[in-house]
Amino acid sequence: MLVVMRNDATGEQVRAVIETIEGMGYRGVPMPGAQRTAICIIGNRGPVNDSLLLTLDGVKETITVTKPYKLVSRETQPESTIIKVDDISIGGGNIVVMAGPCAVESEEQALTIARLVKGYGAQVFRGGAFKPRTSPYSFQGLAEEGLKILDRVRQKTGLLIVTEATDINNIELVEYYADIIQIGARNMQNYSLLRRAGQSSKPILLKRGLAATIDELLMSAEYITSEGNSQVILCERGIRTFSDTTRNTLDLSAIPSIKEVSHLPIIVDPSHAAGRREFVISLSKGAIAVGADGLLVEVHHDPQHALSDGAQSLYPRQFGQLMSETNLGD
Ligand code: PEP
Ligand code: MN
Repeated sequence: MLVVMRNDATGEQVRAVIETIEGMGYRGVPMPGAQRTAICIIGNRGPVNDSLLLTLDGVKETITVTKPYKLVSRETQPESTIIKVDDISIGGGNIVVMAGPCAVESEEQALTIARLVKGYGAQVFRGGAFKPRTSPYSFQGLAEEGLKILDRVRQKTGLLIVTEATDINNIELVEYYADIIQIGARNMQNYSLLRRAGQSSKPILLKRGLAATIDELLMSAEYITSEGNSQVILCERGIRTFSDTTRNTLDLSAIPSIKEVSHLPIIVDPSHAAGRREFVISLSKGAIAVGADGLLVEVHHDPQHALSDGAQSLYPRQFGQLMSETNLGD
């Protein structure tokens, strides 16, 4: 349930409503908006009796939230969320480009790619230090050494860093080094990891699971926001379908579908969707055409020798082409 305050309600009246909600055994999360403040009631397992709430000063009305997710729903917050990381804004009409290799392989590799993608206008450098690999025998990432390399990339290039936490045991370390913490497709329903991400002060990039519905993705985002972290960026990265010509099927309709029901920003990863670099530029254009708030693109200066996902990694000059053809470059 949403308790909508009148637009002249005072901070004190908002606090009194939250205290009353807490007295009823629930939690009240204030959602300040351009027109009015609403207080979202969470923690109730059944319908909430609003009769007491409606008598409180400053309360305009109560609205039943129809979706199973509440804090991430547009019913609760009509305005799109804009996440500020340093001097960049994600959401609300800005298009952010995050680019870099699948995995950090060495300082030289990471810096070479970072300088190239920055030159073409990327704002965030991506690169995994902890890699969730299908095979236990594949390269698993450089772990903390990889994070230290990413730290030096940030210092030397000024790019922000997004990198993945694969486990409740490494999220603290990732949180220390990253500007944005990625939660990968395989972990979209790792609820203890989501709850821990919800206690972080860093923004979370939450990728859609391999076979997850949009409601499931939004419920996972709700796990994070319900712990107090409202800075969640969603990512469509392709889902499993019967179609086997690409690695996954990029669900472009997820973008307008999510924007209709949620205020969270959503970006697109065309690389893991396609699995082949040949399709990455056209899928990126499609993503922007349907309203994505950004792109997450794999780029490698020597993809033939990449330790993971070489086939889908753009050559730097192709990344330059993507940036100029989408008018996203400097
Ligand atoms: C990645 O971004 O390199 C990655 C492993 O992505 P996903 O979780 O979408 O498979
Ligand atoms: Mn990858």
